[in-house]
Amino acid sequence: MADKTGRKGKKKKGSAPAAGAAGAGTGARGAARSAAAPPVQKNEYIEMTIDGLTHEGNGVGRHEGFAVFVPRALPGEKVKVKIIKVLKNYAVGRLVDVMETASHRTEPSCPIYKRCGGCSLQHLDYEEQLRQKRQWVVDNLERIGGIQVPVHPTIGMENPWRYRNKAQVPIGVGGEKGGLITGFFAPRSHEIIPMDSCSIQHESNDRVVEAVREIAGSLGLTAYDEKKHEGLLRNVVAKVGFRSGEVMVVLVTREESIPEPARTRLIEGIRERIPAVKSIVQNINPKRTNVIFGDRSVVLWGEKYIYDYIGDVKFAISARSFFQVNPVQTEVLYGKALEYADLSGTETVIDAYCGIGTISLFLAKRARRVYGVEVVDEAIADAKRNARLNGIDNVEFAVGEAEKVIPWWYAQGIRADVVVVDPPRKGCDRTLLDTIVKMKPERVVYVSCNPATLARDLRVLEDGGFKTVEVQPVDMFPHTGHVESVSQIVLNEEAGSR
Ligand code: SAH
Repeated sequence: MADKTGRKGKKKKGSAPAAGAAGAGTGARGAARSAAAPPVQKNEYIEMTIDGLTHEGNGVGRHEGFAVFVPRALPGEKVKVKIIKVLKNYAVGRLVDVMETASHRTEPSCPIYKRCGGCSLQHLDYEEQLRQKRQWVVDNLERIGGIQVPVHPTIGMENPWRYRNKAQVPIGVGGEKGGLITGFFAPRSHEIIPMDSCSIQHESNDRVVEAVREIAGSLGLTAYDEKKHEGLLRNVVAKVGFRSGEVMVVLVTREESIPEPARTRLIEGIRERIPAVKSIVQNINPKRTNVIFGDRSVVLWGEKYIYDYIGDVKFAISARSFFQVNPVQTEVLYGKALEYADLSGTETVIDAYCGIGTISLFLAKRARRVYGVEVVDEAIADAKRNARLNGIDNVEFAVGEAEKVIPWWYAQGIRADVVVVDPPRKGCDRTLLDTIVKMKPERVVYVSCNPATLARDLRVLEDGGFKTVEVQPVDMFPHTGHVESVSQIVLNEEAGSR
């Protein structure tokens, strides 16, 4: 989910855009080897019909049987394309003209949509985005897993805008008179494109970024220059609790000292302009790196944590801690996971890849005992803190790899009635799946951010005696290609007789 889905999967050089992953079926076939020379050449103009869409927002069509990927073209459209890249198995074209427009095409509301690339599906109307996301799940399950099960219509958002509770924005030099700018990195570069507002961010985050930029700029504070490794302000990170309304401002700086009186005035200025601010934190990152956070944080003013809720569970959020970025849909997704877990209060549950324990704590109130496992120790520290915060004492959290810890638990005689998995994009480790097959829980609930690895893993579980009952896609990231779903899997009866 959330940040776990993001930017982890590096694309192999020369592999077709999104072929295989959540991409359109046509994409994968397009990557098949063809012995003949490609029928298109660089800089050539062609007309073609688009018949597929990858989750990166690339339309896919065929020119004399050869796959051509065209960013921002939509299925059903007849388009004119300039070929800009030709590889062995596919080409990439730039959209020159849409000659026949798809009925689902819509005008992106964001003025910098084309340059940002963050919302790859903004040109597709929201209803169709939801339909498309369900279709990607169906296609992957069938093609990769050979699995045909009911896949429900994607649960979307009533208002699919302003849904993010966290913004991480680089600060740079630019604008008139060399003042401060905030924005995003242009694709494949470190040039900062200025941005005043992001329509998938909570308004509060936009206001925080603007306040920091203007106040720090007027105080003459410098922006970090990554080429020279000079200057002070690297990033501003804004967080807001949707339900609590509490705001946190994190200033990531290259060095610890912020000169006075600018430091005091900066804090005063932020408090004045953002009355809901509860916490102003400085994080120090002295390294030459693209990683946003450094190891050390100091509270400049207010509290160390802000708080927010998912369902009726309260979570403490610190400068660096992970928290689901779309809390509204997280509640929907994990609510579905709870429904699929079908707990009566007597069960032992294992929550694999538990992060800060969101699902574990959600399930704990309806289970006898919950065991959570997660590889990042800071996340487990947060999970334990959140358990205490909510007075939940029937959960146990362990740091480690799910594929090592759960087999060890199994060897100790721990048997779960329900296993929940919420892995990153690469899916579950095979050893973990084999252990689940041996453990024979009555139900498995699989929360997935990548339908391709979901399909692969469901196949292993099905071959091991489980049956997938149904799949519910939930739209956690409207206007982007991310596809989240939750599946219910049950033990087949004959396999269940131990
Ligand atoms: N359900 C979690 C989020 C899961 S995101 C929550 O609500 O917080 C996937 C998580 O898997 C990440 O926290 C990541 O750190 C963790 N992870 C990745 N590989 C792992 C592994 N091999 N074993 C255990 N956890 C892992």
